[in-house]
Order: sequence, then C-alpha cells, then structure tokens
Amino acid sequence: MAIKIRKNAILSALAGAKAAYPNEFICLLRGKRVGEDLVIEDTLIPPGIMTSKTMTSFSDWMLPWIEGLVGTFHSHPNGVARPSRQDGWLFSQKGGVNFIAAEPFGVKDTAAFIGSGKKVEFAVVD
Ligand SMILES: [Zn+2]
Repeated sequence: MAIKIRKNAILSALAGAKAAYPNEFICLLRGKRVGEDLVIEDTLIPPGIMTSKTMTSFSDWMLPWIEGLVGTFHSHPNGVARPSRQDGWLFSQKGGVNFIAAEPFGVKDTAAFIGSGKKVEFAVVD
C-alpha cells in the first residue's frame, strides 16, 4: 500500500501548523482507497478544538462517524517529527495514518506513521 496525500491537503495542514505555533495544531484527514493506494484528499478541522503546547484531548477528536476518515495530522512545535509516548498509544488505539509535522513545518519536516509509530513513506500528489 502506498500512501499519497494531495498537495492541497498537506499544504493546508502545514499552514494550520504554522498559524498555531507555538501551540500544537491538529486536524483529521479524509481520503479513500484507490486500488492498492490510500489517497488523502482533504483535511477536516472538527469544531471545538483547542490547541495547547501539549495536546491532551486528541483522542476525543477521532470521531468515528466522519465518512472517509483515514487518519490524523498534528504538529510538534518542539521540532521533533516522532510520536511522543502518548501519540504512540493513541495511534495504536485509533489506527489509520498519522502525520506529524515538526517545526518549521515544511513537507520535508513531516513524517507519517502507522500502528503505534512505525514510520512509513508517503508521496505528495497533485
Ligand atoms: Zn504528538
């Protein structure tokens, strides 16, 4: 399975990360299976989200009834593009593909993870 994310989706998520800095930013990712690939089409910011320097209510935002929800994106203002211990636990509970963007929030500062924190490659597509 290849993971692809639309350029518009990742750029809007990264713009959110920059705007929220020095707080964390989070959004949900919607997409679909296309053959063997998972294509992330757009981002979704659920209502009622509050950001802080250390996100704690992440799990509540994984709303299971959102159609096409395939993962999450959140930022790490501390510049480390790796799951924290808490992230790893949440990822393993929620499944899907979870992106982390580290400050300064470019595409190259972004990594994708599956399971409890296994890094996977992803491609940005038009
Ligand atoms: Zn995190």
